[in-house]
Amino acid sequence: MRCPSTTGEDYGGLADYAAGRLSRRLVSVFDAHVSECGTCRVFVESQKKLWNVLDEWDADPVSFGFDRMLYARIDQVKERSPLRRLAVFTSGWVSNPAIPLVATLALLIAGFLAYRPARGVPEEAPKSVVVPVVDPFEVDQLNRVMEDLQLLHQLDEVKDEAAASSAM
Ligand SMILES: [Zn+2]
Repeated sequence: MRCPSTTGEDYGGLADYAAGRLSRRLVSVFDAHVSECGTCRVFVESQKKLWNVLDEWDADPVSFGFDRMLYARIDQVKERSPLRRLAVFTSGWVSNPAIPLVATLALLIAGFLAYRPARGVPEEAPKSVVVPVVDPFEVDQLNRVMEDLQLLHQLDEVKDEAAASSAM
C-alpha cells in the first residue's frame, strides 16, 4: 500500500481501517503497513480512541419543556413585523454563496445591456440633465432595513458563539 504520510494522499483508507469498515483482504494489507509505519500507527490509534469515545458518549435527554419552548420561539418569529420577516427570508438567501454571485452577474449583464450604445443611431446631445431626487422617507426606510439586517447578523454571531462554546 502507498503510505499517505509520504504520498500526501488523504487518510480516508486508514480511517476506514481504524473503524473496521474494510474487507479481510484489505485489513491484512493495512495490518502489514501499520506494523512497520509509525506515522500511520499513531493515526490509527488516535482514530480508534476517537471511536471508543464516541461509542461511550451518550447525548443528554431532551429537556421536559423542549417542545413548549420551541413552539414559543416559533410563535415569536411569526409575530415579528413583515419587514423583519422579509429580512429573515432574504438573509437565508444571502447566506447561500451562489445567490449573491448570480445576482451580481445579472446586474452586470443588465447594466451592460442598458448602457450599450445603440448602433446606427446618431447620438444626440442630452436635452436636459436629470437630477435624481431621493425621498427622505425612502432613506429612513432603508436605514431601518439596514439596522434590522445588522441586528440579525449580530444575532447570528451570538448564536454561533453560543453553539461553539457549548460544543467545547
Ligand atoms: Zn504509513
